[in-house]
Amino acid sequence: MPNGGGWRSFLRYDEEQDRPEISRALVRRALAYGRPYLGRIAAMLLLILVVTLLGLAPPLLVRDLIDRALPERDFHRLTLLALGMLAVPLVNGLLGVAQRYLGASVGEGIICDLRTGLFDHLHRMSLRFFTHTKTGELLSRLNNDVIGAQRAVSGTIVDVFTNSITLVSALVIMLRLEWRLTLLAIAVLPLFLIPARLLGRRLRAVVRQQMTLNAEMNAMMDETLNVSGALLVKLFGRAALEVARFRGRADRVRRAGVRQAFMMRWFFLTVSLISAVGTVVVFWGGGLLVLRGAGFTIGTIVAFTAYLGMLYGPLSALTNARMDLATSLVSFERVFEVMDLPVEIEERAGALTLKSVRGHVRFSGVSFSYRPGKNETEAAAEGLSDVVRFGHRGGGMAPPPLSQEGGKLQTPDPQFPEETPAHEPPAAEPWALRDLSFEIKPGQLAALVGPSGAGKTTVTYLLPRLYDPTSGVISIDGHDLRGLAMSTLSAHIGMVTQETFLFNDTIRANLLYARPDATPAAIEAACTAANIHAFIAGLPEGYDTVVGNRGYRLSGGEKQRVAIARVILKDPRILVLDEATSSLDSQSEALIQEALERIMKGRTSLVIAHRLSTILAADVILVLEAGRLVEQGTHVELLAKGGLYAALYETQFRPGRAAAGSDRRP
Ligand code: ADP
Repeated sequence: MPNGGGWRSFLRYDEEQDRPEISRALVRRALAYGRPYLGRIAAMLLLILVVTLLGLAPPLLVRDLIDRALPERDFHRLTLLALGMLAVPLVNGLLGVAQRYLGASVGEGIICDLRTGLFDHLHRMSLRFFTHTKTGELLSRLNNDVIGAQRAVSGTIVDVFTNSITLVSALVIMLRLEWRLTLLAIAVLPLFLIPARLLGRRLRAVVRQQMTLNAEMNAMMDETLNVSGALLVKLFGRAALEVARFRGRADRVRRAGVRQAFMMRWFFLTVSLISAVGTVVVFWGGGLLVLRGAGFTIGTIVAFTAYLGMLYGPLSALTNARMDLATSLVSFERVFEVMDLPVEIEERAGALTLKSVRGHVRFSGVSFSYRPGKNETEAAAEGLSDVVRFGHRGGGMAPPPLSQEGGKLQTPDPQFPEETPAHEPPAAEPWALRDLSFEIKPGQLAALVGPSGAGKTTVTYLLPRLYDPTSGVISIDGHDLRGLAMSTLSAHIGMVTQETFLFNDTIRANLLYARPDATPAAIEAACTAANIHAFIAGLPEGYDTVVGNRGYRLSGGEKQRVAIARVILKDPRILVLDEATSSLDSQSEALIQEALERIMKGRTSLVIAHRLSTILAADVILVLEAGRLVEQGTHVELLAKGGLYAALYETQFRPGRAAAGSDRRP
């Protein structure tokens, strides 16, 4: 017996009981996934029909054997019946193979579509979504939940069909064999509804809970088993603690599993008891009829008993399938939940594709808050109990704290304002950027400077449209970003961040990611420009060196230069850079600096500047403080002004001062 409260507590799992049981819309939506496979489904159902009907024959053969072949001493008939009994399972077995093949191909096909749809949707989600979602939980939806949905398709539906046919045909045959006994057998049918009524919802709630717990466990595995997580665990000596935490999660998964198994067993118990009651009723009633002189043949009684099994068996199976279907639908539901998450940054219908851009960037009255708009918050609060732990649920009244853990879903109003009301944001709002206006002419270099947390990174996120401004307009060559095709933005804007991500693949493959058709010569040229070619050429496997999980086999500086080469290959008109900082040794810093200067030439560049050389070279320096643009101009102009820039220059940039490392982001 499981610990804590005994079995009663296992049957009482109330948390989600007020969910509607199975909504029609959900079923319809799940069924729609079968549409491309209608032909195969029809063939499969036909096969099931034939197999099931054939399976009904043996008791009739037995009856014929007992009532005719044996009494009439008909040897020929006996042989035919024997052959028939062999033929039925043989033919049925072969047809069963074909049916299974069709079933599996439909089931797997649907799951493949569902999974791809989910993957596609996830890749349309904004950066905000990914900064607030646990990857492990998403993986869990892509794996476990999708597999749960598959069970519904390939197992349950076949079961339902097979059993319904068996049930109806058995009933017809029974009625013809002996209608009085059949009526007795039918009398207990309503009892079969009871167990599902009693347990259906609870079981469904348990299954839902099981999936949520599994997803949580996955999330934890993902966070602690990736390179950075594992490193952190080691450095802080928390392995024992993590194992204990994991045991806690795994334990909850275990309890949910036991609870489910336990409930299923109770369910089976009631169903089989009801079958037994039915059988007893038939035997007792049939016995009475015989005692009163009703004339059944022995063959009829034997056959009838066999069919009784074909009535109650499928009935139990159907009640069971109902439960299975309900629990499998939980999976569909969880997958659909993610698919229904609103795509925050979407390409507008008829969005403009630009073949080339000049690179004229303009921010006009741009304000931005990482906080969600009300609509989005409510949407998040309603359905997404566990995919995206948006923390702040319901209301949309009190702003969530702006910490990483706190205000989770932070989504600006999704309807983008064509003309933005130039409202002054209330002072209490946590605006990351407020009323920012500036311009970078084609080919110019703009340097962003300001204290940590001023909003520099946020500005660089808005330009490639990783987020949309809450109000105001950002344009390239006079086109509002929101009117441009995503492909245009990604083709013409290149970004080099401090945190470099490389796929665990060869250096070559990572470079080709920027331009799949790049020739080896082009790759080499890009790497030479990025000051990394000599290093790569010196590796035993050269460009075919695998960089390791997240590029961990390369040093920080090498990784960054590969990333720069990647952007050079892409050759964008507009560059967004977060300059490397003192995390690197001075030699690789110099190499990177040189590479960056090379790629900035002739492109519009927006750079978070950490280096004096960059700000001196800048056509315009944008000085940010607490989300506002407090000064802009050239180095000389700003120094003369004696404001924030002059102060920053004194503390951060002036030769002889420590570099801007203090402002480094992890
Ligand atoms: P900088 O790059 O100048 O150091 P950022 O643009 O990173 O500044 O940050 C501006 C403000 O926005 C800071 O107050 C920061 O805490 C906040 N912020 C940054 N990223 C997020 C995020 N994903 N969610 C919520 N707040 C954020």
